[in-house]
Amino acid sequence: MFKKILVANRGEIALRVIRAAHELGVQAVAVYSEADRLAPHVMAADEAYLIGPAPSAQSYLRADVLIEVAKKSGAEAIHPGYGFLSERAPFIQAVRDAGLVFIGPSPDAVTAMGDKTAARSRMIDAGVPVVPGTAQALVDAAEARRVAGEIGYPVLLKAAAGGGGKGMRIVASEAEIEKAFDAAGNEAQAAFGDRSVYIEKYLEGPRHIEIQLLADRHGNTLHLGERECSIQRRHQKLIEEAPSAVLTPEERAAMGAMAVAAARAVNYEGAGTVECLYQNGEFYFLEMNTRIQVEHPVTELVTGVDLVQWQIRIAAGEALPFTQDDVRWRGHAIECRITSEDPANSFLPSTGRIRNLVVPSGPGVRWDGGITPGFEVGLSYDPMLAKLIVHAPTRIEAIERMKRALLELRVEGVDTAVPFHLRVMDEPDFRAGTIDIKYLDTHADLLATEPDEALLRAAALAAALLEEERRNQRAVPRVQAGSASASGAAGGGAWRGRAGGWRGR
Ligand code: ADP
Repeated sequence: MFKKILVANRGEIALRVIRAAHELGVQAVAVYSEADRLAPHVMAADEAYLIGPAPSAQSYLRADVLIEVAKKSGAEAIHPGYGFLSERAPFIQAVRDAGLVFIGPSPDAVTAMGDKTAARSRMIDAGVPVVPGTAQALVDAAEARRVAGEIGYPVLLKAAAGGGGKGMRIVASEAEIEKAFDAAGNEAQAAFGDRSVYIEKYLEGPRHIEIQLLADRHGNTLHLGERECSIQRRHQKLIEEAPSAVLTPEERAAMGAMAVAAARAVNYEGAGTVECLYQNGEFYFLEMNTRIQVEHPVTELVTGVDLVQWQIRIAAGEALPFTQDDVRWRGHAIECRITSEDPANSFLPSTGRIRNLVVPSGPGVRWDGGITPGFEVGLSYDPMLAKLIVHAPTRIEAIERMKRALLELRVEGVDTAVPFHLRVMDEPDFRAGTIDIKYLDTHADLLATEPDEALLRAAALAAALLEEERRNQRAVPRVQAGSASASGAAGGGAWRGRAGGWRGR
């Protein structure tokens, strides 16, 4: 096992990785931008280095600086988290060239899955079902028109280099196809620097169901079941759960086997996810995410497998000690993404200083957060502040538990998506498990602005908790983070992030 690893990320995922490292007896080195001096991941790490100003191009995306800090701090491996450099093959290669271990798959596997058209071709070769469409980028609008005519409208134009729901265009009829082809190309060029676009049949109201994988270096590749991620806004996930309310054990086994085949086709190593669309018992490969995903905790809660620890253990050369037959699923888990967005205002990003934070707890509640009181939420990074995850014996109990936890949560200083989540937990179709990716289009009332009863109860409860929190805060002095020095090769000297060194390492 490694002695020390560097976490090349920020926010909740950086903290999540640091926690996993500590539980394995591994020291964790954090990096931070000027905007993140007060961030919890900086406090939790054994050492922390300032790597640049707030814009990620000048900090969290500086591959050279990150590798330099890793070497300087004596870290043997780099965990990339998600986003940022996590799926950039040249970074992985550079990490390897520097004699360090990248905690994740090989650059070849990332390249093979990174381009959506290349991945589609490979999956077709491996016998994996994909959504009908082209396997190569379209040459011109005329080809788009011809293929769309063959597979039938509506179709979806997608950026080959796409991600995060960007560069996608639904085309309802032949009249729109040429204009849409140009628009999608321009959008893809602006977002990814690559105007390649391909075409897929647009499925009307499928579910987004994905399969979690773990693969070690010793030939063991297994799946940990599915996550249902159909509650999305503009192709961005908001609520995820495990298991899906609809999958039968046979379907789970079939989708799992397909995902394992997809991973084997690229000699995959580490944790990864195969995303699928599912409709009327049929499923289609969408893409593979070659990293840990935001929604991984729901799988951890129902399987009892710590995915982030296994990422580190696999990178250190360990073999998985369990087989597919040993994987068991227990109960139901739900995750709500706590973003700094105002659901009453078209999910507009909200900024400000976190004045107060009351985190839910109690049976079956997990909080993976990246904020503390005093932290300044700006516009430099993704608006996801934290994830609230619950686990209970049944789906309906998990929904009730999530409601209870959401009502306990108090984030003062920025607007959050909490009122939206509360409404979903009460919505009959969601409670019945009747959901698909068009859920928010067909339930637009969930974006209502009127305060409802749940919110009023939340406000009353939060006021009481807030008072208690204030009393506690007066009793405990704040950690001073201003002591971070700024010197050294990477522009930041190390500092002990822990007052009192309570971990004693
Ligand atoms: P990205 O990599 O940008 O996240 P994906 O290919 O994973 O793009 O698709 C994101 C979301 O877009 C899916 O979860 C689904 O909601 C929707 N989507 C993608 N492809 C299709 C399709 N062929 N038909 C209908 N919806 C789709």
